[in-house]
Amino acid sequence: MENRFQEELNPLKIAQKQLLKAIVQMKEDMSVYEVLKEPKRILTVSLPIKMDDGTVRTFTGFRSQHTDVIGPTKGGIRFHPGVTEDEVKALSMWMTFKCGVVGLPYGGAKGGIICNPRELSRSELERLSRAYIQAIAPIIGPEKDIPAPDVYTNGQIMSWMMDEFSRLKGYNVPGVITGKPVSLGGSLGRDTATAQGCVFTILEALKKLDIGIAGAAVVIQGFGNAGMNAARLLTGMGASVIAVNDSEGGAYNPTGLDIDSICEHKRNTGSVLGAPGSEPIGSEELLTLPCDILIPAALENQITRANAGKVQARIIAEAANGPTTPEADEILFSRNIMVIPDILANAGGVTVSYFEWVQNLMNYYWTAEEVSERLRAKMVASFNAVYQTAQAYRVDMRTAAYITALGRLVEALKLRGWVS
Ligand code: NAD
Repeated sequence: MENRFQEELNPLKIAQKQLLKAIVQMKEDMSVYEVLKEPKRILTVSLPIKMDDGTVRTFTGFRSQHTDVIGPTKGGIRFHPGVTEDEVKALSMWMTFKCGVVGLPYGGAKGGIICNPRELSRSELERLSRAYIQAIAPIIGPEKDIPAPDVYTNGQIMSWMMDEFSRLKGYNVPGVITGKPVSLGGSLGRDTATAQGCVFTILEALKKLDIGIAGAAVVIQGFGNAGMNAARLLTGMGASVIAVNDSEGGAYNPTGLDIDSICEHKRNTGSVLGAPGSEPIGSEELLTLPCDILIPAALENQITRANAGKVQARIIAEAANGPTTPEADEILFSRNIMVIPDILANAGGVTVSYFEWVQNLMNYYWTAEEVSERLRAKMVASFNAVYQTAQAYRVDMRTAAYITALGRLVEALKLRGWVS
């Protein structure tokens, strides 16, 4: 039983199941599945780092490139103790379909280092970031593969990485990495892009379900870049965020949390737990609170067959990658809960990363308004394309998002002669 459950939660197996489901719906040839079921390339690197106390510790890192049939590959770098090869592979596959849903000229990639950045000093983190780029430099570059931030990586880490790659090349290469600070060629609006994109899709979903944003009850799991910015944006529009949590614990107030004071408490203490005007709440309880919008914005496998039957949200907007297992998807679909799948809901991040790369290549920079309007146009059009596909095929929104993404990908695979 335990093995079966482990297998159910293996992100690579999940990504493969999702892909297969869409290919079967589309009645495509199985050669498409054969080409896309595994990444084209995965590089494993060993990173010996001199620690501040003079000892040497070796870290393991990965970079997975799923497919370059459409263009260069693109995807974030995660620093987390739970990183595995299968997780990085799955995340790179999801990136392919995410880029496909919003029509970006990229295939998917993902990177990760098995480490706990909280236990590393700033200089250890810098040496680790630089060592990783040295190790993967042969396979990345603006025309090959363009990394970006993911869980526990940020603009500072992207700056060290861009600097290291530029040093190796001997000239400045801002287009090798996105999610950089604006002073190093980052795009305005990149910081909040994932949350902003997610909110644009939520607004469309609310329209379909005839729910107003004013007073809508929101629950958010994870209070980092994606979760915190979503909380800020939604409260700014009149929604009521009633519960949030992070890896340390949760904060709940059925009449609505004061997000500014939650942010301040998190800044001061490192967690939302114990924020003024809130009571503590456990992770399982948080996920099953009655609400209009549930936003998983932490890690994978949070909504499973064990708790999907108890979820009381009307809309689940997946800011996180892979928070819902296929078994949970079926339960949620049968319960008429609309899931805005990760490859659509959090595609705002890679969309503004794409804008950043385009601006770097052109050396011509856009205003915050231009970025926001282009992002809005892409997210609204993509949501509606997926929604219409879901209606036409009578499938859940995730399968519809895969079908939307695969349409273009399969055409490219056929034109290049990679599948029959
Ligand atoms: P982050 O590191 O800024 O924040 C992650 C948050 O999740 C932290 O608050 C952390 O405490 C919390 N967390 C970790 N484990 C938890 C648990 N078990 N329960 C509750 N909270 C927990 O990361 P982020 O950039 O906000 O990414 C969050 C998710 O969004 C990830 O799945 C990531 O892949 C996805 N995502 C992020 C972006 C982006 O641009 N930042 C883009 C697309 C997808």
